[in-house]
Amino acid sequence: MKKILVTGGAGFIGSHLCEALLKQGNEVICLDNYFTGNKQNILHLMDNPYFEAIRHDVTMPYAIEVDEIYNLACPASPVHYQSDPIKTINTSVMGAINILELAKGLNCKVLQASTSEVYGDPIIHPQPEEYWGNVNPIGIRSCYDEGKRCAETLFFDYHRQKNVRIKVVRIFNTYGPHMHPNDGRVVSNFIMQALQGKDITIYGDGQQTRSFCYCDDLVRGLIAMMETNDSVTGPINLGNPNEFTILQLAQLVIELTGAASKIVHLPAVSDDPTQRQPIIDKAQDVLHWEPTIQLREGLLKTIEYFKGSCFPTN
Ligand code: NAD
Ligand code: UDP
Repeated sequence: MKKILVTGGAGFIGSHLCEALLKQGNEVICLDNYFTGNKQNILHLMDNPYFEAIRHDVTMPYAIEVDEIYNLACPASPVHYQSDPIKTINTSVMGAINILELAKGLNCKVLQASTSEVYGDPIIHPQPEEYWGNVNPIGIRSCYDEGKRCAETLFFDYHRQKNVRIKVVRIFNTYGPHMHPNDGRVVSNFIMQALQGKDITIYGDGQQTRSFCYCDDLVRGLIAMMETNDSVTGPINLGNPNEFTILQLAQLVIELTGAASKIVHLPAVSDDPTQRQPIIDKAQDVLHWEPTIQLREGLLKTIEYFKGSCFPTN
């Protein structure tokens, strides 16, 4: 049995990861400040004697003895990470330093949840790991994009300079149960709007693309990455390479919910990436990983979750 620390463990992805690691027979410590996560996501784990939840902010150092660390703490929805941009960059940068110092002292593996946002508004399409990106350093998304880029830099410098055993994955748009209904990201927004019979709000013309990965697939990828030997540092893209326009997503959500909602177009948001699709050759070769749940099936599971949740849908 390993003892594993998951920062951001009460968030959307973190809560699924905690559950999967417990199912494997590990002891899991979830560390979270509940900024965008919530206890509801981990309520079903609370009775497990091998699970522990700790309220802590990763911008402050934390001492604990563990065998592995997954560093997921950071708001991921543009609405939330832009609501306090200084805090967001602080979380990525100071959070990375504190977690890397902890890993250094313990000589344990540490995985960083990086993001496709390090590619910014990509000029190279689809995106391989070798692409350095096209990021605005002073825009409203920069607190997240540059914070995550700096965190990657810190991970590789701690690896080169202090021999820390790092793993860096770049996660592309992931969705599923445990997303907060007010999260603000596109999948939860569209599903909640459809279930409530409200207008589906597309920002801009809806021709911008994203490639959507279901949470269970992603969590398998995170664990596969952690299980590789020390020579595998990444970065490795994790995502579903099937690409959709936001308009196609809106139409699919309407079809699958049977909603009477109509699609409305709102002004485009600043610095919104126009296209995004991962090349996952590395994940396939090195991790023997690829997604198995396609958008239609994943959306149906997510719609069921939002219908069955305590959140009002009418
Ligand atoms: P989320 O917002 O649901 O989860 C983030 C968790 O981190 C929350 O529980 C939040 O309370 C916690 N947190 C935030 N700031 C913290 C701090 N200072 N100290 C301690 N805890 C803090 O988002 P998510 O989608 O589950 O994302 C998890 C991780 O994966 C994030 O690092 C995100 O950047 C990364 N990621 C997610 C996606 C995606 O599409 N979901 C894509 C790329 C990268
Ligand atoms: N989006 C939208 N309507 C919404 C929420 C998001 O059209 O209600 C668009 C957003 O402008 C972006 C895409 O959907 O082009 C994905 O947005 P999200 O916030 O989910 O994640 P991002 O990939 O931009 O970080």
